[in-house]
Amino acid sequence: MPSPLAHSVSGYVLAKFLPLDKISSDIGNKWHVHILYPILVAVAADLDFIPQIITGVRFHRGLTHSLTFTLICSAIIGLLLSYLWKFSYKQLFLFTLLLYSSHLCLDFFTNGGQGMQLFFPFTTSYFKSPVAIFPAIHHSRGLWDYSHLLPLVFESTYSVLLLSVVAWYQGRRQSQ
Ligand SMILES: [Zn+2]
Repeated sequence: MPSPLAHSVSGYVLAKFLPLDKISSDIGNKWHVHILYPILVAVAADLDFIPQIITGVRFHRGLTHSLTFTLICSAIIGLLLSYLWKFSYKQLFLFTLLLYSSHLCLDFFTNGGQGMQLFFPFTTSYFKSPVAIFPAIHHSRGLWDYSHLLPLVFESTYSVLLLSVVAWYQGRRQSQ
């Protein structure tokens, strides 16, 4: 599965292209709206490694990587943020849903592992794409294994490319 780097950059970039402009004009140019919130939502699914470390029971890529949890989580986050930011629940729900779904999308197209329990609790089967885009990261080999080099280079290139597109897009908008 991709590292937090690819997930964070994807969330950040999505926030630049999705209709957050309307949100920003209503609640101001606050960095936590444009940077922190998209990044946190885009990486949130992988917080399931915490109960796995504590209990030793396998949680990773289970519940938090399911479509049901994605919907419920987005509904709750959207509700909380609409209350805090005094902004449209529908827009915040949809925006959170897209950001959270970006995580599942990246994981789905990653090599290695069993995949995700996408349709939990209806089935505990794991799903992943037969065609992978992201190379696998072998966590079991420790932090400093040379096999991490390929995913590191791939994700860094992916991130630089995405951020370059955002920089180009913002430059074009400012010049108009
Ligand atoms: Zn994940």
